[in-house]
Amino acid sequence: MSKLRTETLAIRLQTERSAQREHSVPLYLTSSFTFENAEHMRAAFTDEVEANIYSRYSNPNVDELLTKMAALEEGEAAWATATGMAAVFTTFAALLSAGDHIVSSRSVFGSTHNLFVNIFPKWGITTDYVDAADYEGYEKAIRPETKILYLETPSNPGLDIIDLERIGEICKRKGVLFVVDNCFATPVLQKPIRFGAHISIHSATKYLDGQGRVLGGIIISTQEIVDKIEGFARHSGPAMSPFNAWVLSKSLETLHLRIDKHCSQALEIAKRLENHPAIDWVKYPFLDSHPDVAIAKKQMTGGGGIVSFQVKGGLEAGRNFLDKLELFSLTPNLGDSRSIATHPASTTHSRLKPEERELVGISDGLVRLSIGLEHIEDIWEDLEQALS
Ligand SMILES: *Cc1c(COP(=O)(O)O)cnc(C)c1O
Repeated sequence: MSKLRTETLAIRLQTERSAQREHSVPLYLTSSFTFENAEHMRAAFTDEVEANIYSRYSNPNVDELLTKMAALEEGEAAWATATGMAAVFTTFAALLSAGDHIVSSRSVFGSTHNLFVNIFPKWGITTDYVDAADYEGYEKAIRPETKILYLETPSNPGLDIIDLERIGEICKRKGVLFVVDNCFATPVLQKPIRFGAHISIHSATKYLDGQGRVLGGIIISTQEIVDKIEGFARHSGPAMSPFNAWVLSKSLETLHLRIDKHCSQALEIAKRLENHPAIDWVKYPFLDSHPDVAIAKKQMTGGGGIVSFQVKGGLEAGRNFLDKLELFSLTPNLGDSRSIATHPASTTHSRLKPEERELVGISDGLVRLSIGLEHIEDIWEDLEQALS
């Protein structure tokens, strides 16, 4: 057969089946694996034979998920962690040493910001922020000690878009590792490695699961970098549960379908909101009014499922809007089949000072919608009644 396409790989890549010849992969809910004799066990520990030893190191369910994710992201190998934040933390902790420096886009997930500002400095690792689309700024911020350039595109929750190809060129020229949090796009919409990224990171908790059931994180890269990550993770223990890997591997089978629907519904909702009198502005990567729509369309095949907008009237208006929603869930997750609304200024970003929120584009009236898979008219009717 010719080279299989990603929709097919997400369904057909699988670990070896047992003598039962199961069609769907069974759940290997086991903490460890047994050996034929002392020699077999010795050889497994020295990597002379390939064998699962202990589920902190590897597990067939986790392997299947990683094989699929490496194929979807066009990387050589991948590693799984218990949460998305464990994937972000493990990447930096495995690859950096005291004295190393990070250059990051200012528009990053709240907990990632906390790692940079409150945790890594304890170990002598410092970070400088650059405004999301300030390409000269990135170049200027890179110093001899800079090891990693880090960004999210689209960013959470501001939906900033950064030109991956352009940053990829800067990183190549300067010899720094280029790391992308690809959570909002998923490999269906954007493959950062194609644009020069060395590492793509996911919170699998979001679209990869897509149904709000499990937490997980995935790191995709070259074999060489994944070996380094494995060297750190085997002993520090951020492993993904086999159960979560089993859920996530099944979820990948429908990822393309779900993402297509999230995108078409979100685009339609964004267009309708743009024409609504109670709204100041709407941000969505594939709306013509997005300042970087051309870059979004160059590197993504769809705008994703997240829409952000500002209700007229500031903080109180934003909170009132949330209180009036009936169908939408008020919960901090996103990428779910259920539509979700959040108000970042009073929740995820409430600990930032107003000036800091301003810098990352989080105004007081900003509302973030994760458009789900319910009927579009039911989604719209709920938004309309809450805005009226
Ligand atoms: C949710 C999220 C994370 C963290 O993932 P968890 O699975 O919640 O630990 C990291 N980056 C982005 C962009 C996210 O949305």
